[in-house]
Amino acid sequence: MTQIIDGKKISAQIKDELKERVAELGRQGVKVTLAVIQVGADPASSVYVRNKKNACAYIGIRSLAYELPEETTQQELLDLIGELNDREDVNGILVQLPLPGHIEEEKVLNVIRPDKDVDGFHPQNVGALCIGRRGFVSCTPAGIIQLLKRSGIEIAGKECVVVGRSNIVGKPMALLLLRENGTVTVAHSRTKDLKEITKRADILVVAVGRPRMITSDYVKEGAVVIDVGIHRNEENKLCGDVDYESVAEKCSAITPVPGGVGPMTIAMLMNNCVESVALQQSGKVS
Ligand code: NDP
Repeated sequence: MTQIIDGKKISAQIKDELKERVAELGRQGVKVTLAVIQVGADPASSVYVRNKKNACAYIGIRSLAYELPEETTQQELLDLIGELNDREDVNGILVQLPLPGHIEEEKVLNVIRPDKDVDGFHPQNVGALCIGRRGFVSCTPAGIIQLLKRSGIEIAGKECVVVGRSNIVGKPMALLLLRENGTVTVAHSRTKDLKEITKRADILVVAVGRPRMITSDYVKEGAVVIDVGIHRNEENKLCGDVDYESVAEKCSAITPVPGGVGPMTIAMLMNNCVESVALQQSGKVS
């Protein structure tokens, strides 16, 4: 029978573990604080920011919300990040993306102090992942590793195929699977014979951003399929990059959408906030 990988349950377990760690830090007199900056009032971003605040409240992390108007200048944003970088009582800094068009995303992400960069987007953290050093890892791929491990799925020695090579999902996903000793192939829009490649996968991670593109003929019998995609279909229902109904019949384990990868992203963000305390204390990332 196909195993449905329950991201809701696993993320709840992680949040409960973090709640205990935060309570323990509290007993030692350490408070964990996350600063969340949103520029403009994009409705989807507002939902994500609210979910992050709620997760912080549940775990016991103090959250500082900076809701800046759309017309905030790049310099004003950089100045605020500079202030938060210097504040000893702030452990993590998160800038909600996308930013308005007049602000250069890269410039902004690059000024966040690497040991406060809980999204794991700073080049220093990306480099640390590449060469196996300690640092923050992008939350969605980090969450997928947790989903696999906590579902008892072995990665070492497995053929892993990642479809998608974005900086926030595909590339860090490939590096993490490699770190876990998988044999990793990365496919993208210029890949030839995609089906031939995906059909080799024991573990197939799909992050293409195309609704239901991966049908059962892309999947090997008995594979583990992780669907990162999130879309609304014609009936306004959520669906992924994988055609769940047909693929679920063929694979050994699959993440549903919703309730698979999605809830893990916030759980791993919370994990990075808690880790930031230890990283700042050890001075390993700065
Ligand atoms: P991007 O659009 O940044 O990247 C998509 C990748 O897929 C690119 O590397 C692209 O290749 C590749 N691709 C596109 N079309 C094809 C194709 N026909 N065949 C093979 N490869 C293709 O997306 P993201 O990585 O940011 O996100 C992917 C999906 O995951 C989206 O649906 C997004 O909403 C979702 N997502 C979900 C999260 C969650 O928490 N659940 C978090 C982040 C993202 P190329 O590089 O050649 O253009």
